[in-house]
Amino acid sequence: MALTGLDIYKKLPKTNCGECGFPACLPFAMKLAAGQAELDACPYLSEEIKEELAEASAPPIRLVTIGKGENVLKIGEEQVMFRHEKTFFHPPGIGVIVEDTDPQEIIDGKINQTREVKFERVGQILKSDIIAVKASSGDTSKFVSVVGKVREALDLPIILMTDNPEIMKAALSICAEDKPLIYAANNENSEAMANLSKEYDCPLAVSAKGLETLSPLVEKILALGVKHLVLNPGSENVGSALRDLVLIRRAALKQKFRPLGYPVITFPCSQAEDDLMETTLAAIYIMKYGGIILLRNLEPWKALPLFVLRQNIYTDPQRPMRVEEGIYPIGNPNETSPVLITSNFSLTYFIVSGEIEASKIPSWLLVLDTEGLSVMTSWAAGKFVPETIAPFVKRSGITDKVKHHKLVIPGCVAQISGELEDELPDWDIIVGPREAADIPVFLKQWAA
Ligand code: SF4
Repeated sequence: MALTGLDIYKKLPKTNCGECGFPACLPFAMKLAAGQAELDACPYLSEEIKEELAEASAPPIRLVTIGKGENVLKIGEEQVMFRHEKTFFHPPGIGVIVEDTDPQEIIDGKINQTREVKFERVGQILKSDIIAVKASSGDTSKFVSVVGKVREALDLPIILMTDNPEIMKAALSICAEDKPLIYAANNENSEAMANLSKEYDCPLAVSAKGLETLSPLVEKILALGVKHLVLNPGSENVGSALRDLVLIRRAALKQKFRPLGYPVITFPCSQAEDDLMETTLAAIYIMKYGGIILLRNLEPWKALPLFVLRQNIYTDPQRPMRVEEGIYPIGNPNETSPVLITSNFSLTYFIVSGEIEASKIPSWLLVLDTEGLSVMTSWAAGKFVPETIAPFVKRSGITDKVKHHKLVIPGCVAQISGELEDELPDWDIIVGPREAADIPVFLKQWAA
């Protein structure tokens, strides 16, 4: 079990020097126990005590990194049961399972789907971020060959799936430098798999039937010196999977039960009979609390709703999605092109820029930083008002790009036009449409 604040306090120097940024050792100990302070902040701890206390200050759900390079997948480190309490941090990896017994065209199809099925939404690319290769054949060379093919075709983290340590070792010998997830240690092979995890420095999945079997197995593997784990509670159906996922999250966050403080891998691919049910299960695991979600295939109709759901669940509910403040050229504008202004709420930006694009009238779009609020909300909050718009227009550099001084403001804030003209006496303020959908018609009448 994790140490309490008082347990930690007993190990501190108790000089209350304040160098850690806290007024005394006790509040520092309390914050450390709550995971809200860094151990290194106290310069007076011996290496031995540091090691002991590191356990207490570690996040209740450990961060696990799979893969390397820019496509690395990070999962875990979640701090709350419910998104509205704070935010969820690391979106689950979504990917397909390729079996080494699959016909070649199926393997190629899954690789192609993984590479090609992607969507852009509010400025982000939504795509698959992991792929699993399963040794269903029991044939070492076949498995290694498929792993090699997948690795060659995709720059994505890989999960190697076999219970056989010899087959696993053969696959690791060709791809360990990519830091794949080793799946999985169980009651029969735990020592051999733990040794492979240590030898090749790769994260290890631990699989058991039920939480009562899983937690002692995790403790055994931790004692063998493996630190980066992913859990599979072996749930047989969606009911038990949902129960296990909630219990694991609760045990880690509320009871600080270390053996269950790791991200969880889920298998809607093997729990559903058809693609529709598989997609439904995957959606459930995105919301509660899958760390990796494996599918049979990545058909676009299945991938799009799952990717969008994941994006929505893993955005900070207290921080609206936003784009950078600045000048956005749309359709290669020139010095006579229209200049429009809007707020930096992502949805507003993408709707407005989409309508400008649809008008086929090249334009300059000025985007003011309104802290991610929409036009009306930011106007009401005093962030999209003449006092903020005028200085932005002056510093933006738009006067170097156009020879006219006409600025189109959203129709829903028509009431600021007079005051804005006072703030920007060199500019004509033109009230644009209230609705973004009317922008194309409006722009077609533009004359600089
Ligand atoms: S720096 Fe260390 S010794 Fe000083 S108050 Fe903080 S915890 Fe105590």
